[in-house]
Amino acid sequence: MSDLRKTSVQELLRSTDLDREVLVKGWVRTRRGNKYVQFIAVNDGSGFNSIQVVANAEQFPEEKLKADGVENGAAIAVRGRLVASQGKGQSVEIQAEEITVYGSADPTTYPLQKKGHSLEFLREIAHLRPRTNTFGAVLRIRHAMSFAIHKYFNDHGYFYIHTPIITGSDAEGAGQMFRVTTLSDTKPPLNEAGEVDYTADFFGKATNLTVSGQLEGEVAAMALGKVYTFGPTFRAENSNTARHLAEFWMIEPEVAFNDLQDNMDLAEDFLRSLVRYALEHCPDDLQFLNDQYDKELLNRLQFVVDNEFKRLTYTEAVEILKSAKQKFEFPVDWGTDLQSEHERYLVEKHFKKPVILTNYPKDIKAFYMKLDEDGRTVRAMDVLFPGIGEIIGGSQREEDMQKLTQRMQEMHVPEEDLWWYLDTRRYGSAPHAGFGLGFERLILFITGMANIRDVIPFPRFPKSAEF
Ligand code: ATP
Ligand code: MN
Repeated sequence: MSDLRKTSVQELLRSTDLDREVLVKGWVRTRRGNKYVQFIAVNDGSGFNSIQVVANAEQFPEEKLKADGVENGAAIAVRGRLVASQGKGQSVEIQAEEITVYGSADPTTYPLQKKGHSLEFLREIAHLRPRTNTFGAVLRIRHAMSFAIHKYFNDHGYFYIHTPIITGSDAEGAGQMFRVTTLSDTKPPLNEAGEVDYTADFFGKATNLTVSGQLEGEVAAMALGKVYTFGPTFRAENSNTARHLAEFWMIEPEVAFNDLQDNMDLAEDFLRSLVRYALEHCPDDLQFLNDQYDKELLNRLQFVVDNEFKRLTYTEAVEILKSAKQKFEFPVDWGTDLQSEHERYLVEKHFKKPVILTNYPKDIKAFYMKLDEDGRTVRAMDVLFPGIGEIIGGSQREEDMQKLTQRMQEMHVPEEDLWWYLDTRRYGSAPHAGFGLGFERLILFITGMANIRDVIPFPRFPKSAEF
């Protein structure tokens, strides 16, 4: 086997150069057959489809394959001839000449010995679930979407900014934070008031994991014009839902001289081009998820590509919800935040398309959003998607120093912590706008999976950080 180079399964499946010797390395998905012939499906992760290896029983009797450890889950190398397939379901197959086992997988204990495990069970073996069809598909799509995001921004003249993960400001206002400290667990130094003395901590002040890269993104936009961040964010909110994680990835573009209209145009163009990218580049994985989990998936993706989003104000949406025939668990009134049942009613029942809601009451939105002329609402926008609810939250930012600090006082955001942020308004302030797209919510939408814990390799949520 030594001088022959290995070829990926996907490359072999696409090959038209037949009747040649090939070498493939991967994991056994299934082995079946009879006393004349054994069929071994080998998958190396390069794509959804496995390649069929045909092992003639004269050379490879079943007993010998078993004794050698050629079982589901085993890592093997196969040398053989790439030939046109006689069977259905594949155009080429390999006639085995030599099979080497790198690592066997004991069929009596291997957790993925049988197919058809529940997603709940697979979550408990998050270290093995990438080997299933479902998670292979999800992870390849996740990769394709990260690539598509960087490509979109690069093609449109944006700069990728790496914003900090450890932050010294706990004033970002997007949720509960995780404290980062190197102080002793049992005997932290205390100040005169008897509280933990963070001036003795590693950074000389209390620090946390970031909940958003936006404020630093704004700083960068005031120099580079068009920027985006794409990094991990952390929220210690105890929201045990199918749409919240404690650690998730967020994409946050920020653009100097953009207003709310520009911001909506960007969000819509961005989302539609990402969905289009998935349809073009992940057809096998999407087809599998469509057939296996959600027969409407491909139609829904195509629908988003083909149709414009509905844009309306929060106030208009509240009117629609109040006159809706449907009973909601939470009542709707002007001034209250919309619950996901309301968001989904608008998207799935009323408009039957993605919706962008704008101009929310200022009291339910963050301090940095630009105040509307009426003084009651702000230039916020949330993008709502079918099956998901909020996928994007964003706004035009308040560029006026006076109005911004006034809002900070009203909302008890300490100015001294954000002196550096306020400098952007003090020196060369300019209108600007941006938004945050939750990466896992995007992947939920693209894959049609129902639970956000199933679209990230190692999910973190309350009481769970095993892997
Ligand atoms: P929600 O109301 O759904 O909790 P949010 O208003 O807290 O969302 P933002 O602070 O605007 O969300 O964050 C921007 C985007 O990040 C959201 O639109 C969503 O896509 C995503 N997001 C927010 N919180 C989470 C979370 N805990 N897990 C995964 N994604 C999240
Ligand atoms: Mn939230």
